[in-house]
Amino acid sequence: MWLGIDIGGSKLALVLADGTGAPLRATRRLAWTPSGDAARDLGVIVGEARRLLADGGGARLRALGVCVPGPLDSRSGIVEGPPNLPGWRDVPLAALLEREFGCAVALENDANAAALAEWQARAPRPASLVYLTLSTGVGAGLVLDGRLYRGMHDLAGEVGHAPVVWDGEPCACGLRGCLEAYVGGAAWTRRLRRIAPESGRVAELAGGREAVRPEHVVAAAREGDAFALSEVERWNEHLSRALVAVAFAFAPEVISLGTIASAMGEALCLTPQRERMAAHVWPRLADAVRLELRALGEELPYRAALAVAEIAAMEKR
Ligand SMILES: [Zn+2]
Repeated sequence: MWLGIDIGGSKLALVLADGTGAPLRATRRLAWTPSGDAARDLGVIVGEARRLLADGGGARLRALGVCVPGPLDSRSGIVEGPPNLPGWRDVPLAALLEREFGCAVALENDANAAALAEWQARAPRPASLVYLTLSTGVGAGLVLDGRLYRGMHDLAGEVGHAPVVWDGEPCACGLRGCLEAYVGGAAWTRRLRRIAPESGRVAELAGGREAVRPEHVVAAAREGDAFALSEVERWNEHLSRALVAVAFAFAPEVISLGTIASAMGEALCLTPQRERMAAHVWPRLADAVRLELRALGEELPYRAALAVAEIAAMEKR
């Protein structure tokens, strides 16, 4: 039996499955708020895992995979202090869980794990795939020539913090002009609440400007609202600067786009991105790279955690 755990800043998802490719046996998903104390948080996570194992009939656990926000060291299994898990500084998570459950444990950051799951979800599996999370924050995972590419300090794929505008908008990371400061859900939400017209369609859909979120802009853009369309255009413009660089840097067979792009869909995101790709990338390369919306929806966190469990099963056999 494999166990996968996805530890987010506001949600915890756990999944139990038989080995390779078997259907999910049981899942749990709960809202949670990290307490600020890693030992206490770990107690909650272990308790939930034990409950799920009991639900699954108590079969022997062979591998455990954990997705956590970075920074982390996947080789030593240490969580180094993610901003959205306060109090988690240099936590030897893999070793602690190995002791707790007596099985192989692997850790990956959430973008890397999601990229593996997106790669596995396609048949046939593409030679290479880059997955961009495009959620509250922006990160990417790289599966190159059929292997997860982690880079130095597990930092490969941090394109969310490569600048798309020199000295542009300030980013939560401390730099300026980062992709995340333009297309990340948190940054976009802050901007929208500042500039959305008080009596416009976007504010109306949200029930007030202070409640506006990206999904309201997407809905209003579908109705043809001018402000929403201009915001979507701006979002696409900044994202395309990163996608062009990704295409030239990796020439991946597939670039898969996550949450916000997936909500925008074909007309609002893929079509304008393909047009920009055609304009800014050599034709031979632009034709070869497939731009797609993510293949996995709600099940992505579970599949991502199980993809990490598979690493544990294979590497630590
Ligand atoms: Zn940044």
